[in-house]
Amino acid sequence: MPILPDSLRDRVVSDADVARTYGVDASPGASAPDQFTVVRARDRADVVEVLSYAVAHQVPVVPQGARTATTGAAVALEGGIVLNTEAINHVEIDPVERIAVVGPGVVNADLKSQLTAYGLAYPPDPASSASCTIGGNIATNAGGLCCVKYGVTADYVRGLEVVLPGGEVITTGRRTAKGVTGYDLTGLFVGSEGTIGVVTEAVLKLVPAPDPALTVLAVFDSLDATMKGVEALRGQRHTPSLLELLDGPSVAAIQAFGDYGFPADAGGLLLVQSDRIGHAHEDVLAYAEALTAAGATDVAVADDPKEADLLLQGRRALNPALEAKGPRMIEDVCVPVGRLDELVRAVHQIAERRGLEATSGGHAGDGNLHPCFFYDAQNPAQVDAAQAAFGEVVETAWALGGTLTGEHGVGTLKAAWLEGELGAAEVARQRSIKALFDPLGIMNPGRVFGLGTDRP
Ligand SMILES: Cc1cc2nc3c(=O)[nH]c(=O)nc-3n(C[C@H](O)[C@H](O)[C@H](O)COP(=O)(O)OP(=O)(O)OC[C@H]3O[C@@H](n4cnc5c(N)ncnc54)[C@H](O)[C@@H]3O)c2cc1C
Repeated sequence: MPILPDSLRDRVVSDADVARTYGVDASPGASAPDQFTVVRARDRADVVEVLSYAVAHQVPVVPQGARTATTGAAVALEGGIVLNTEAINHVEIDPVERIAVVGPGVVNADLKSQLTAYGLAYPPDPASSASCTIGGNIATNAGGLCCVKYGVTADYVRGLEVVLPGGEVITTGRRTAKGVTGYDLTGLFVGSEGTIGVVTEAVLKLVPAPDPALTVLAVFDSLDATMKGVEALRGQRHTPSLLELLDGPSVAAIQAFGDYGFPADAGGLLLVQSDRIGHAHEDVLAYAEALTAAGATDVAVADDPKEADLLLQGRRALNPALEAKGPRMIEDVCVPVGRLDELVRAVHQIAERRGLEATSGGHAGDGNLHPCFFYDAQNPAQVDAAQAAFGEVVETAWALGGTLTGEHGVGTLKAAWLEGELGAAEVARQRSIKALFDPLGIMNPGRVFGLGTDRP
């Protein structure tokens, strides 16, 4: 176990039971190693001290936010330090420049609610926004429900303060609306999954707050018909601010979890929103018309924000509903939107062939779905089948012109597929970029690239 300097003693989580809760993230089957130390950093100086110590003693460090990663990227490593940044949570809002300068520990939803007083918004909204942190969002380039209109985290990060292994503090990017001075190192850190440095501050771009979103719920009797609905919305002049898909098994799981007013035997559902300033009502009526023409058997329009939010509650219940069903492998592939129907069909065929239950739901507007394969953890054949199905979905996504991860990241669970997507030469190039920042390989070793030469 690392013997940290005295100055960090009161930052170390000393209660063994509490410390164990920092050992895992939200990835399926994650388990904490036997020995690790948790440091809850309170400011940049703590991070500098930990990373200086880690290099001097060649100890692996796992940067960590709220541990909602589904990929194993934030799981503790044996003999290592978990460097949790949740307590670095300062917020400075500049309404004139429309930026927020925040610590990495700020919870996504908390930032959003602080901005309402300024009439401003920070759009990236992972479904985990009530608990995940801006640091974790930056490290995974998090997406979410509104990317179809607003884009992902990378589109809102203007600059960063990062502590590098060894303790050097660097700043990247800018505060201004524009800037092309040098290479885009901010972009390099966004999505780097804690493998090259620890974010201690971020400059985030803000936008004027949109109108409260109004919602359309469209019910279809088959998956094919649901996909026609997605296609019809692609033809709309005003992009929805949210376009979420639930296939039949997802709808059934949600209704089994609680009554959210969905028809449990639906072939598929689409939830669509508009938040366009001054025009949301007009937009949802246009979406409803398009969805009816595309074959929806039932279309409900919520024309006040409260009702609109109620319709969305069922979508929000998806994760707990699937969790209640039992252990599952969670996918995160992203394909061209026009090929989403092929992906969803393939998921069901793979599940059927392998004798597994599956659901497919997620961010239809981006072509990014989270198919889940359920398994009995006590049955090794089912565990193997679920793992194989997980890999088959990645290969299906590639065949459709897509990518292995839309927003959750590679982490540990998808490291084995990295080379399949990028090729050996590109992986080697990216490893050498990591080595430039982290020559001893102490930063989140094993994540993204898999275990290899980067582990101390
Ligand atoms: C129910 C549920 C719904 C979800 N929905 C979405 C969704 O809609 N969209 C989406 O994109 N993701 C989603 N996720 C995945 C997850 O919430 C995101 O990846 C999120 O960005 C992780 O944030 P976190 O604070 O929990 O980070 P953690 O899980 O603690 O860490 C995630 C990664 O960030 C790194 N990291 C954390 N803090 C720092 C830091 N200060 N400096 C450097 N690296 C750091 C870690 O090392 C790790 O690699 C969901 C997860 C759950 C459980």
